[in-house]
Amino acid sequence: MARFEENVMNEAENRQAAHPKGLYVLFATEMWERFSFYSMLSLFTLYMRNDTEGFGWAAADATSLYANYLMCVYFSPLIGGWLADRKLGYRRAVMAGGLFFMAGHLLLSFKSLPIVYLALACLVIGNGLFKPNVSTMVGNLYPEGSHLKDRAFNIFYMGINIGAFMAPIAMEAIKSKWGYHPAFAAAAFGMVISVGILWIWKGLVEDPDASSRPGKAKGAPLAASGIDSIPDWKRCMALVIIYSIVIVFWMVFHQNGSTLTYWADENTAWNVSGTISNAINPFWVVTLTFPLVWFWKWLDRRGLEPSTPTKMAFGMLLTGLSFLVLFWAAKTGEAMTSEGQPYAFKVSPVWLISSYGIVTLGELMLSPMGLSLVSKVAPVHMRGVMMGGWFAATAIGNKLTAIGVYWDQWLHSTFFLVLGGLALVMSVVLFLLVRPLKRWMPGV
Ligand code: GLN
Repeated sequence: MARFEENVMNEAENRQAAHPKGLYVLFATEMWERFSFYSMLSLFTLYMRNDTEGFGWAAADATSLYANYLMCVYFSPLIGGWLADRKLGYRRAVMAGGLFFMAGHLLLSFKSLPIVYLALACLVIGNGLFKPNVSTMVGNLYPEGSHLKDRAFNIFYMGINIGAFMAPIAMEAIKSKWGYHPAFAAAAFGMVISVGILWIWKGLVEDPDASSRPGKAKGAPLAASGIDSIPDWKRCMALVIIYSIVIVFWMVFHQNGSTLTYWADENTAWNVSGTISNAINPFWVVTLTFPLVWFWKWLDRRGLEPSTPTKMAFGMLLTGLSFLVLFWAAKTGEAMTSEGQPYAFKVSPVWLISSYGIVTLGELMLSPMGLSLVSKVAPVHMRGVMMGGWFAATAIGNKLTAIGVYWDQWLHSTFFLVLGGLALVMSVVLFLLVRPLKRWMPGV
C-alpha cells in the first residue's frame, strides 16, 4: 500500500479508534498502587507521632521525615526509568517495583524503628521502578503521533485518583477499628491486587516496549510525527524547560497536605476534620475528567484542540486563580477578626471546595498532560528516564512546599497571594514559551 494511503488510513483509524484494552489494565494496576501509596501517606505522620501504637515522635520530626520521604520517593523514578530503558524493560520494572512496594507496606505493619526505615527504603525503590514505567507503558500502547494520548493519560489519571480517593476513607475505617498495623497490611494487600492485575492481563499490554519502536508499533507511526526530525538533545531540552516551570505548580499544589489542611481544620466553618479535606481533590478529579475529555474530543473534531503545552499554560493559570480565590476568602475572614487575632476566623467551606475545583481543573491540564508530553517528545530509548525527570520535578516542588513555614508568620491572605502570584507569573512565562518550544517539539 502506498505510504500516503497508509497514513491516511491510520489517521482515520486513530481519530475514531477506541482506547486499547491495555489502557484499562494499566488503569486498574495504577489505581491499586496509588491506593496503597496514599493509604500509607495518610497514616504515616500520625503513626510516627502515636504514643501507643507508634513511636511518640514530635510533630516537627514526623513532618520532616515525611517531607524527606516525599522527596526521595519522587526522585527515585529517575533511576528506575533509566534502568527500565537500559536493562529491565518497562513491564518487568513495574512488576519488580510492585514487589518492593508490597514488602515496604507489609514491613510497616511491624512495630520497630529500624524496620520503618527499611520499609521506607523499599517504598522509595518501589516507586522508582513502578511509577515512571507504568506511565511510559500507557503512552507506548498508542502509535506515534496519536491524538488519543492526551485523553488516554486523562483517563489513566482518573484511575490514580479513584485510588487516592478511596485510600484515606478506607484507612480511617480500618485504623479506627483495628489500629495502624492492620491498616498498613491492608495497604500491602492493595499492592497484591495491583501486581495481580498486571500479571493476569499482561497479554493486553504485551511487549509495550516494542510498540514504540518504528515498524513494530501496534499501529505504524502516524503522519503527524514530525518530531522525528528534531535531534534528541533539543527534545530533551524542551522537556527539561517545561519541568523546571512545573516545579512551581507542585510547590503550590502540594500545599494540600499541609497549609490547606490547616486552613480546612482551623479556618473553615464545618464539622469535619482537616484530614477529610484531602478527599476533595481526588473527588474533583473523578468528577471533572470525563467532561474535560469530552471537551477535548469536541474541540479535536473541529480541529481546535490546543497543543499539550498550551493546555499546561492554562493549567498554571487556573492554579494561580484558585489561590486568588483563597486570597479573597482569607481577606473576607481577616476583615471579621479583632485586633491582634488575625488568624481567628472561620469562613464558609464553599471557598475551599470551589478553590479545589479550580486547582483540580488546572491539575488535569498539567499533570496528566506532562505524562503525555513526555510520551510524545522523549526519544524512544529514553522514555523511562525522561518520565523519571518529570517526577524529579515533583520531588523538587515537594521540597519547596516548605514555604509553608510562613503560614503562621504572614497573614493567610498574603500567603495565598504570594503562591497564587507565583503560579500566575509561571503561567505567563509558559504562554510566552509555547511558540519557541513547539519548534523543538512539533506535532504535540
Ligand atoms: N497525584 C498524582 C499521582 O499520584 C501526581 C503525582 C505527582 O506527579 N506529583 O500520580
